[in-house]
Amino acid sequence: MSDFTGKEEYQELFNPKVYLESFYHLGSGSRADKYLYFVLKELVDTFTSGKVKGDTLIDIGTGPTIYQLLSACEVFKNIIVSDFTERNREEFNVWLKNQPGAFDWSSVVKHVCHLEGDSISCQEKEERLRKSITQVLKCDVQKTNPLDPVTLPQADCVLSCLCLEAACKDYEAYVTAVKNMTTLLKPGGYLVLGGIMGSSFYTVGEVKFSSLDLNEDFLREAITGAGYVIENFQLYKKTETSVGEQQDFTAYYVVVARKEINS
Ligand code: SAH
Repeated sequence: MSDFTGKEEYQELFNPKVYLESFYHLGSGSRADKYLYFVLKELVDTFTSGKVKGDTLIDIGTGPTIYQLLSACEVFKNIIVSDFTERNREEFNVWLKNQPGAFDWSSVVKHVCHLEGDSISCQEKEERLRKSITQVLKCDVQKTNPLDPVTLPQADCVLSCLCLEAACKDYEAYVTAVKNMTTLLKPGGYLVLGGIMGSSFYTVGEVKFSSLDLNEDFLREAITGAGYVIENFQLYKKTETSVGEQQDFTAYYVVVARKEINS
């Protein structure tokens, strides 16, 4: 079982442009379509619930993506994004600075605007998100302070999508990574985790990356064990039974959990 692709493989082999092109053109049969329809709706609900709000949100393992932040920027004025690899941070910065060659997020932005009631234009939405991003940092979920050497005041919300299943080689590493992320969060603050269950791999171009095969019981235990009360646990179970050549999975999830005051 040494198929695990760790952070060094990500640093060397993860191509952000290929990843974005193959997963994130919503509605045109791209690979994340079903995931996005599910997770974007859950994130809209989470960030309009009135409970998950505050000054600062830290996104862990952002990769080159913005979809997970589109609703969050309506309630957090200070968003810090982070990823292990330099290329992902660079790709994120190309979008942030609106430079030529930035990925076209319009299909995803349009969908989120629609879910939020079409009160602002897609362009305004992207601008609003850009204005809320205050830092793009390196992170490593295996470190006790994942943002080391940077030390930040504890945030009101920690968000992470599709990162821990990629970054953790076994259940023990996952439990530790959740605890590490928890150090970044204020007592009473919210952890929002989204991702994929029952997955052992996915490909980006020709490169195969490993995924930690999560299930609901384990995830609940890992989160409550790190000092949280789970307030919402949403699952979208896959209906077809086939195993694809590009990835395998059984369900998508979004979990919202509150860090206990006395933890
Ligand atoms: N959040 C994005 C990217 C997920 S891909 C999305 O939802 O699409 C998995 C991400 O985990 C990659 O960006 C990879 O660089 C990052 N990653 C891998 N190992 C990591 C580690 N040890 N610490 C932090 N991030 C890591």
